Amino acid sequence: MIVVKFGGTSVQDAEAIGRAANIVSGRLDRQPVVIVSALGGATNALIAIGEQAAKGHLIGALRGVEELRARHLRECEALLKDSDSSAEIAAELSATFDELASLAEALSVLGHATPRSFDKIAASGEELSAQLVAAFFQLKGIPAEYVDARRVFITDSAFTAAEPQPDLIAERARELVQPLIDDGKVPILGGFIGSNEQGLTTTLGRGGSDYSASLLGAALKASSIEIWTDVDGMLTADPRVVQGAQLIEEIRFDEASELASFGAKVLHPNTIAPAVRLGIPVFVYNSRKPGGKGTRITFDAPRRAVSAIAGKSGITVVRVSAAKMLFAHGFLKRVFEIFDKNGTSVDVVATSEVSVSVTVDDPSTLESLLGDLRQLGDVSVERERAIVAVVGAGISDESQAMGRAIAALAGIKVHMMSLSATAINLTVILDADDLNEAMVRLHNEFFASGMNA
Ligand code: ADP
Ligand code: ASP
Ligand code: MG
Repeated sequence: MIVVKFGGTSVQDAEAIGRAANIVSGRLDRQPVVIVSALGGATNALIAIGEQAAKGHLIGALRGVEELRARHLRECEALLKDSDSSAEIAAELSATFDELASLAEALSVLGHATPRSFDKIAASGEELSAQLVAAFFQLKGIPAEYVDARRVFITDSAFTAAEPQPDLIAERARELVQPLIDDGKVPILGGFIGSNEQGLTTTLGRGGSDYSASLLGAALKASSIEIWTDVDGMLTADPRVVQGAQLIEEIRFDEASELASFGAKVLHPNTIAPAVRLGIPVFVYNSRKPGGKGTRITFDAPRRAVSAIAGKSGITVVRVSAAKMLFAHGFLKRVFEIFDKNGTSVDVVATSEVSVSVTVDDPSTLESLLGDLRQLGDVSVERERAIVAVVGAGISDESQAMGRAIAALAGIKVHMMSLSATAINLTVILDADDLNEAMVRLHNEFFASGMNA
């Protein structure tokens, strides 16, 4: 069997859902299981509804609910027209919006929303899209069957960024999804959403539908996982930043994983891990060009000096200086224990004679982290930084690659630099304002002539 995942733009309206149906129809002999995102932009709209309600802006929140209801009913009408299921599906969708409206009212009275309520609200995007897609696929003659993803994707209780429990997911997938496949059906599930063992709705974090696809692929030992999106595949840089970014036809798992972690939104950073463990190839395709080559992510892709450039802003650099202590036995361990205790994950680390510098991309735990670090030495914080990463499995084989990267950044202020332990990427910390310029320059350096490094 294969897992076929459609992102938000690939199910954004009736036309896109029509294209998705054609893609799935062409794969029926490979026993597809389908994962869908919410209609493009719906998750943002849902989160905005939660925020408005929590601020007590009930009218704004309810307006948001009605806009989203109208959009879903419009697409439902366009997709199902006068089919038998049309009224029934429209009523089901509408019931979800009634629930959302009640939830918004409750939150506005409280004037507060917890991560748990945000997950309940955000998850409705994928519930709605999966039901709508399943109904339309059936109309198109695909033996589709909606499966409530929350019953399959069991997670811990870290609402808004829940950790999936792979063993339980495998058990549920065998129980609830495999029998449908064996029966010749095409199961349709919402990505991104799950539930904890008490049955409360959770989500896997923004962009998490890719992760759902990969988890399900691993649980059912899929022969491949297909991620259908709005670009031709993984490209040599973010096409919104760099004109002329080129398709990477084959890329290694480790490189794809680094690119995702350093800002290539085309894949959720956790997507690769479940697939890697079982050696399941992941493909990235453009749902607007179903005949395209796409990108194949595997172990055996060629080793290149530089495969792509990625970048992300919103980075905070934390420096701890303790001249006398830095290289004393156990000092770095104490520093990292503090990060661990605060649940703060670290992207890039660099040490100098007198300090250790660390980047953090989620500022939510920063205050308590800094308090703890100050016990160890002087702590300084730099906000509004960005990371640019030059990713390539062979970057340290080719002696010139690093020099070329550094030369390409001439005149841009560099705050920190690090070659990863596995020597698969060179990461450079800059001012956030310089990020796009740095990405363009690095891309020009390595890819301008159409040559790959
Ligand atoms: P989906 O809704 O299908 O999950 P996303 O918006 O999450 O799609 O991801 C696709 C987007 O990722 C593309 O439109 C592109 O702008 C962005 N992107 C960033 N870096 C890259 C890259 N290296 N290759 C391809 N796309 C990238
Ligand atoms: N709909 C969710 C989001 O926008 C998950 C996803 O699309 O991957 O974050
Ligand atoms: Mg995505």
